[in-house]
Amino acid sequence: MTVHNFNAGPSMLPPSVIAEATRAVQEFEHSGMSILEISHRSPGFMAVLDEAETLVRALLKLPEEYAVLFLTGGASTQFFMAPLNLLPQNEKAAYVDTGSWSTKAIKEARRYGHIDVLASSKAQNYAHIPKGYNLPVDTTYLHLTSNNTIFGTQYQVWPETDVPLVCDMSSDIFSRPVPANRFDLIYAGAQKNLGPAGVTLVIVRKSALGKTGRDIPTMLDYNTHISKHSSFNTPPVFPIYVSLLTLRWILETGGLHAMQQRNEEKATLLYEEIDANPFFRGVVSDPADRSKMNVTFVMADRYRELEADFLAACREANCVGIKGHRSAGGFRASIYNAMPLEGVQALVEVMRSFSLRYG
Ligand code: PMP
Repeated sequence: MTVHNFNAGPSMLPPSVIAEATRAVQEFEHSGMSILEISHRSPGFMAVLDEAETLVRALLKLPEEYAVLFLTGGASTQFFMAPLNLLPQNEKAAYVDTGSWSTKAIKEARRYGHIDVLASSKAQNYAHIPKGYNLPVDTTYLHLTSNNTIFGTQYQVWPETDVPLVCDMSSDIFSRPVPANRFDLIYAGAQKNLGPAGVTLVIVRKSALGKTGRDIPTMLDYNTHISKHSSFNTPPVFPIYVSLLTLRWILETGGLHAMQQRNEEKATLLYEEIDANPFFRGVVSDPADRSKMNVTFVMADRYRELEADFLAACREANCVGIKGHRSAGGFRASIYNAMPLEGVQALVEVMRSFSLRYG
């Protein structure tokens, strides 16, 4: 049965990745053991870690001055690890609030220093990305959430500033090229565009570390993981392996420019249907801020009572995961890298036949 999986995360992975991961669960590289059974110190796994790091560097064109880490604790742990490691006690960091993930990052950062929230779209239910705010120059970093997974907004243009950026890219990492050298830190939970839940990718400029004067607990210190090549303790072997398979898939299918092109094609198709179909309405107020990863929409006001019927129509067509986040309501179609154009076409077909049936 073909299921079109629009889940927001954990979300669909490329079928070839699932097939290869399945084989490795049976037996990893002629070792007579499952990937679930091998030592994280074995040469086989060390090669996995090395290659995963190499591919992250290649895809993002990372200069040597960046470390690439595979950690645990989810992106949520990075909400506090980032300021703990980067923000000296008496200095300031700036944050832009574009949704509940930014809000959580702000709450954790406040434990470690003065946090300026430069702008927030909360009063408009996060329906746009704030712009036109003044950025103080005496700030250690500017924290952004590149893609708002819940409300469906995404930075299409990075803020103009010389201040180093710190960015939660959990829901759009590897979906497009990024100017890596503008960032002191990029972090992303794997479970959307990279692999299964359980590993968090962290990319950090090494020279930004070691300046806080804090006594950082060993496990929470990026330098610990840099010096031990992400193996200070037992790393999440299987999620890292599956992430490697996904990284290989991204490279084999053309790299980040190709991902971007495909993602734009998919998003355009879906947004065009939302705009043309009188039964639906997009929720992002400025079309320039629409996410290419999480497409959010609702029933048009006069058809509001048909929401459950539309969800039922989606289920019938094996389009799963369309219900919006509990805090946003409506619908959300997550169309990460692994979602093929055919999946989006299937959803658009459901929307068209729904409007014919009820129109
Ligand atoms: N940031 C963003 C943008 C997210 O979408 C999520 C989870 N969906 C998180 C942070 C939290 O990630 P985790 O569950 O890995 O802690």
